[in-house]
Amino acid sequence: MFPEEFQKVSSPNFPSFPKNEWSDVSSQDWNDYVWQLRHKISTLKELESRLTLSDSERAGVLFASRSRLALSITPYFFTLIDRNDPNCPIRRQVIPQIDEAIDDPDEMEDPCGEDADMPVPGLVHRYPDRVLMLTTDRCSSYCRHCTRSRGVSGVGPDHLHLAWESALDYIRRHTEIRDVLLSGGDPLILSDERLDYLLGSLRAIPHIQMLRIGTRTPIFMPQRITPSLCAVLRKHHPLFISIHTNHPKELTAESRAGLAMLADSGIPLGNQTVLLKDINDTPEIQMQLVHKLLMCRVKPYYLYQCDLIKGSSHFRTSLQTGIDIIRHLRGYTSGYAVPQYVIDGPGGGGKIPINPDYLTGHEQGKTLLVNYRGKQYSYPDPTPGNKSLREELIRRHIADR
Ligand code: SF4
Repeated sequence: MFPEEFQKVSSPNFPSFPKNEWSDVSSQDWNDYVWQLRHKISTLKELESRLTLSDSERAGVLFASRSRLALSITPYFFTLIDRNDPNCPIRRQVIPQIDEAIDDPDEMEDPCGEDADMPVPGLVHRYPDRVLMLTTDRCSSYCRHCTRSRGVSGVGPDHLHLAWESALDYIRRHTEIRDVLLSGGDPLILSDERLDYLLGSLRAIPHIQMLRIGTRTPIFMPQRITPSLCAVLRKHHPLFISIHTNHPKELTAESRAGLAMLADSGIPLGNQTVLLKDINDTPEIQMQLVHKLLMCRVKPYYLYQCDLIKGSSHFRTSLQTGIDIIRHLRGYTSGYAVPQYVIDGPGGGGKIPINPDYLTGHEQGKTLLVNYRGKQYSYPDPTPGNKSLREELIRRHIADR
């Protein structure tokens, strides 16, 4: 059970939202993640009984739930939606629009080319010393911009084939692997026992140095962060967690409480944000987000360019938008607050960092630089050194002794 006392730590920056139509639900039920999972909103009928939908949303739900990525929203996350704002950034991330049915010719079912790098089902081995292990195809709520929408939720064109034991065998045999990232779906949807088994099996492999979990659970369903989950996670250090937060409104009293419990368990926390058009594509929103993350002891880690997922053109921005955001963060706030902007090379190129051009050239033995305010500087290349002067200095100083 999510400790109830954390619910009360509400502040203007980290509000706790009213339960609205669930106001008769007891705190005990509301704070129980099993209750949250059992009461997910997953049909058009349930959604329409709570929200007046636009025609685009109604058609989007019908299309997506049959052939792309299911509708699912936890009651907790649903309460964050501003019902008077059709462009609410929470609403746009979890309620489908008919735009999901419009495929751009550049879009792909598997935009990161993961299937081609799977030596066994559900295990992506792309980089030399680390692997990505897909642990489940389910999440408590589904993001409409999900990179793995082809297989997550069970209604898309593919099914994620998961084979834990084959993946563990592969990792045991490949001694060059030192880092395992557990993802999905969302690994924190698994029971404590299953997580303990998986983390324990990986920890028993001598060449595995670090474990990582990628999860959106502290945002979609912070009630899952229980003392017993933390006790399991704490057993398997060094363990890092990357959460996925896209908008400052997602950081509430409840999510902050869950993140505090993880941080207090000694888990270093990072955040990944997907850059989304009309949701978080301004420097002001990103500045608020990174500051709130740091207040939750979460380091902003990556800002992702939205992948070329099928039916995602309504979410994508230009690369210049992301570069401009980084330019407005770097120098204007703490270095800790600035994420690395990256794009996954379409089709399987892996992560490619994108930075504003602070290096402007090189001339006459000097690198030319520009700082965050546009002021120009230069930095000289190392000189080869004066060998005869050096020998002369050695002789002279030894002679002076
Ligand atoms: S939580 Fe992650 S895996 Fe689940 S729908 Fe969102 S992006 Fe996809």
